Amino acid sequence: MELRINNLNKTYDNGVKALDDINITISTGMFGLLGPNGAGKSTMMRTIATLQDPDDGDIFLDELNILDNSTELRKVLGYLPQEFGVYPDITAWELLQYFASLKGISNKKDRNEMVSYLLEITNLTDARKKSVSSFSGGMKQRFGIAQMLLNNPKLIIVDEPTAGLDPAERRRFLNVLREIGSDHIVIFSTHIVEDVEELCNDMAIMNEGRILARTSPSDAVAALANKVWKKIVSRDAVEQASTTYQVLSTSYNADNTLNLRVFGNSIPGEGFVSVSPQLQDVYFSHLNGFQS
Ligand code: ADP
Ligand code: MG
Repeated sequence: MELRINNLNKTYDNGVKALDDINITISTGMFGLLGPNGAGKSTMMRTIATLQDPDDGDIFLDELNILDNSTELRKVLGYLPQEFGVYPDITAWELLQYFASLKGISNKKDRNEMVSYLLEITNLTDARKKSVSSFSGGMKQRFGIAQMLLNNPKLIIVDEPTAGLDPAERRRFLNVLREIGSDHIVIFSTHIVEDVEELCNDMAIMNEGRILARTSPSDAVAALANKVWKKIVSRDAVEQASTTYQVLSTSYNADNTLNLRVFGNSIPGEGFVSVSPQLQDVYFSHLNGFQS
């Protein structure tokens, strides 16, 4: 299965160009759409979910022109929005049963099996008798996945699900996504590099409505071999450094010195050592326009 996006553009009424000629093809597997806040990720995802029209461009899921056939698309779509509505004060078990009935699963045994299975894979079996309205953010996100999977979707869009989750909840959520990944197209947006590192076999980096890089995490890291350099500098040297070097990131040491990570095709200056590139370096090198 393949999702192809051609020349997609969107400018909001306030003049913000949220999608600037997006062209991208996404295949089966776990796809990470990585970008900072305001990059255009949610706009792109709502557009693929046919909840919002682009100004121009088209999107195909295999042969299906989805912007012209939103009803067909929605039959195979699972979409978890970045923010979702308020849940009623009903237990997880009952609410999933209810959604399953709406989906037309009328046989009680089939429905029980389905609901049990979905609660199991989303790690909510123990919470099935609790009200969904009392769930933590992470539990609500996982419940959202269970609800979405009732459709047996082929195209799954999950918009920034880990933003705001604590580390343990984030881990559980990533594990749930890992379970469902392999035979669907899963598009997963995030501003957290580690999410992509841990989960995705394919990715794009997006900012200001544009795709800055279309790669796989491993290829992207490999492409930076011998191009990332590190030097420990004093705190006051950092301002100077940012004008002299292509700085990827800085981090403090306990003694108040700074680790300077710098991009460079050759050694950027005295005292630098070559270090193994990480996906974080890839991300910052593209955001800062060091690689084009
Ligand atoms: P992301 O999900 O990557 O944070 P969004 O798609 O939400 O990015 O937003 C992209 C840009 O479009 C931002 O500058 C945002 O402020 C703007 N934007 C998003 N939705 C609207 C809207 N309904 N009206 C006007 N501007 C919007
Ligand atoms: Mg967003």
